[in-house]
Amino acid sequence: MVNMPDFSSNHDKLMSMATSLEKQIGHLPKEVKFCKKCVVSNQRPRITFDEEGVCSACRYAEWKQREIDWSVRGAELKELCDKYRSKDGSYDVVVPGSGGKDSARVSHMLKHEYGMSPLTVTWAPFQYTDIGFQNFQSFIQSGFDNFLVHPNGLFHRKLSHLAFYLLGDAWQPFAYGQMAMAFRIAMKFGIKLVFFGENGEAEYSGDLRHAKMPGMPLEVWREVYYKGSMVDDVVEKGLEAGIFTPEEIKREQASLQFYRAPGLDEFKAAGAQMHWFAYYHHWVPQENYYYCREHTGFEANPAGRSEGTYSKYASLDDRMDGFHYYLAFMKFGIARTTSDAAHEIRDGHIARDEGVSLVKRYDGEFPKLYYQDFLRYTGITDGQFNEVLDHFRSPTVWKKEGGEWKLTEAVWHPKHLAAAGSKLSF
Ligand SMILES: [Zn+2]
Repeated sequence: MVNMPDFSSNHDKLMSMATSLEKQIGHLPKEVKFCKKCVVSNQRPRITFDEEGVCSACRYAEWKQREIDWSVRGAELKELCDKYRSKDGSYDVVVPGSGGKDSARVSHMLKHEYGMSPLTVTWAPFQYTDIGFQNFQSFIQSGFDNFLVHPNGLFHRKLSHLAFYLLGDAWQPFAYGQMAMAFRIAMKFGIKLVFFGENGEAEYSGDLRHAKMPGMPLEVWREVYYKGSMVDDVVEKGLEAGIFTPEEIKREQASLQFYRAPGLDEFKAAGAQMHWFAYYHHWVPQENYYYCREHTGFEANPAGRSEGTYSKYASLDDRMDGFHYYLAFMKFGIARTTSDAAHEIRDGHIARDEGVSLVKRYDGEFPKLYYQDFLRYTGITDGQFNEVLDHFRSPTVWKKEGGEWKLTEAVWHPKHLAAAGSKLSF
């Protein structure tokens, strides 16, 4: 058994600092509305609704269908690759990812359809699932070089423990590293291109500021992904709470580098560029699944659907993932099924009513399969976990009745069904 120190004695101190780095909940609308086309609500950070009650992510999907000629975009990608393709057999593009269906597809297409030499890089999950590790291995076996970077284990656990209290999301240290590490590796090898899969802000929130760009300018990238709470903010609070000592932070500076975006001067000197594959190629998660099943040995979860959703092939790698979505359920009243169903409605795979029924059935389901792993990893007790959950519940969507928490706003509630003109009744 891996040595996992107990952090439960930090609880009272951290509860007094809880939510101190959470910057989203306070800005959400007090009146909850659901999109009339998909199932997402206006509680999703950065999403907007128009006068017809349709969300910005749906409008973005419509705009893509109407305006984009994918053959033109494919030609643009070819041109970009022609410019950056190495002539001496060295790596010419970094593709960050886990070997899951999305990053595997990007890597495979860049290599086999565009003649690039990708170096794939993986920021290790907190705790691999069996199927996640198997898919990762299959991906490498299908013909890819890969750097698997494990963050400093103890340091990463402390960050995760802190982020659970301060941000209501123990997963956040993964997000810091996933972005920053890819650039650091690219710069180390003198590779000028970094290809991510999709622009999540545009695909899921409909934040359109950069949706029509092939990639995010690096200055903007730093601002968008690292605004608000950066790893150094978490470290500072950790010092304040006595979870880190100043000596420890001094000693672990090398570890910290992987969580920090490189400086702008470094970026500029390296001449690196970040692009989204989804700008050049029509991005349909379900098609990525079929593609990778054929080309990279990807398999859906043999255990069936993941907890909290009906999907069998997305976000399978990490035992901690379910808690990222579950905490979103506390903060916003919508979780993983909402996100999956909304995207499938926009892709035309399911009808809205079907999405509503799936949300009723699976959204906010507790991820019990890996609950003990989560507690061990974050070093807290069951009682402490529940206290943190309750602390992050948004009063806009949760109410306590007779000692039980009730979700007060759901897409399947009669008033919201009526508002969307649905004939469903539950
Ligand atoms: Zn929508």
